[in-house]
Amino acid sequence: MSAPRAVKGMHDLLPDRTAHAAWLEARFREVARRWSFDEIRTPVVEPTELFVRSIGESTDIVEKEMYSFVDKGQDALTLRPEGTAGVVRAYVEHAVWTQEPVTRWIYMGPMFRRERPARGRYRQFHQLGAELFGDPGPYADAELIDMLVTFLREAGVADVEVLLNSLGGPEARRAYRHALVEYLEPRRPALSADSQRRLASNPLRVLDSKAPEDREVVAHAPRITDFLNAEDRAHLDGLRAALDRLQVPHRLEPTLVRGLDYYDRTLFEVRGRGGELGAQDAVCGGGRYDGLVETMGGPPTPAVGFAIGLERLMLLAPPPPPPPGTDVFVVAVGAAERLEAAVIARELRAEGLSVETDLRGGSLRSQLRRADRVGARLALLVGSDELARGVVQLRDLRAGRQREVGRDALRAAIRAERSAT
Ligand code: AMP
Repeated sequence: MSAPRAVKGMHDLLPDRTAHAAWLEARFREVARRWSFDEIRTPVVEPTELFVRSIGESTDIVEKEMYSFVDKGQDALTLRPEGTAGVVRAYVEHAVWTQEPVTRWIYMGPMFRRERPARGRYRQFHQLGAELFGDPGPYADAELIDMLVTFLREAGVADVEVLLNSLGGPEARRAYRHALVEYLEPRRPALSADSQRRLASNPLRVLDSKAPEDREVVAHAPRITDFLNAEDRAHLDGLRAALDRLQVPHRLEPTLVRGLDYYDRTLFEVRGRGGELGAQDAVCGGGRYDGLVETMGGPPTPAVGFAIGLERLMLLAPPPPPPPGTDVFVVAVGAAERLEAAVIARELRAEGLSVETDLRGGSLRSQLRRADRVGARLALLVGSDELARGVVQLRDLRAGRQREVGRDALRAAIRAERSAT
């Protein structure tokens, strides 16, 4: 049998990329803390019905991309393709509105979509997301977007601009859908096969198509922003004024729609700007979904949220500052000292130092080379003579200096060396 390989579109994160991912997650938690968001975790697997109901039957995700299966108990289950559905399910299941009027949650974790793999598009990827429940006003949207932009900047993305649109409420969407179909129907032959099909099932999605023939037709289509009622318009204007006041860079993008059905009113996206992530690729998508909690069996509850693609963010953001690395490399001079070297290493680890040893032994020189390679500043040479006298040799690998230190004074000596740099 040939050697097993990871599933297509699913990737290992080796330590340098894991360090970047973990650093970004830590930054996200830190920014979220300043905005008073708490983290929640929901299962990776949910009932298939949950996603069909929330994301929408005629979306790409539900039509083609879900990893769905029937388990041994005959339950229809799906690996979550996004985070909001599960978070809303948890919000309703735990009746969170009975405990607090406004809820602010973040989440992070792996998502699964059977898309065609490409740069920045995977079948297992990770999202960092936030949801704010219970506040219908535009300032909630603005506060959330401000948190998002602050995080992206602190993650190292210099050039952030938020693309904004409004899908209006159900009334505006109905009117717009009608006008859009009226515009598209006579132009049907010019559309891609996918869009021709969507024209009947989900015409708004035609606006979202990347096919060049569709883009041309869509460029002159009616704009949703012309169909907003007074309240929708006031919401959008309020949000834009708030973003101006908060100095969050944003631009109205009337063709913006997103591939999930649950949004109404506010919709936003942050895209790559040149660099490794294409200018058409979104690093973050979000919006308001005032009807979803009720659809899931809760009381009418306004909500707004976003999800950032972690892998795409890693394409945009520079790597984090290097981690502190190994403090001390403990070298056993001969085979007889290996066990004692391990004991000394353990004592230093108990002090909070990062310690590496090479207990396979080997020559002094090869162990010192290894110490160099892991970036250790200090080496401890543990020899039999020294052990008999209760001392070790402490060597500064950069300066090439070496001195004898009593075992009981070791911790203080190492701390002194470390703070000397
Ligand atoms: P969505 O849940 O579709 O609104 O996507 C939110 C964000 O998740 C996007 O802006 C991407 O950054 C990321 N994302 C979505 N699908 C994928 C994928 N297949 N691979 C990598 N990242 C993705």
